[in-house]
Amino acid sequence: MSEQPERSVVVPFPGPRPAKAPAKPRDLGLTALSKSLGPVAISAKGHWCDRCNGIWYSYFGEARCPVCGGRC
Ligand SMILES: [Zn+2]
Repeated sequence: MSEQPERSVVVPFPGPRPAKAPAKPRDLGLTALSKSLGPVAISAKGHWCDRCNGIWYSYFGEARCPVCGGRC
């Protein structure tokens, strides 16, 4: 009986994996109300918008995204 030669298993070369780029939040900018204020000394507060996947800024206690109008 002749032995079958072991089949060589082709191992896929572990190449560089496509690195999952971290989702970079979009900069949605200031709200219209905050823009109208012009440059001010106080820092704008960032708000996260789920719909736009980004952050918008406001000097006021606004709760509405300036891009999609959604409440955040
Ligand atoms: Zn939005």
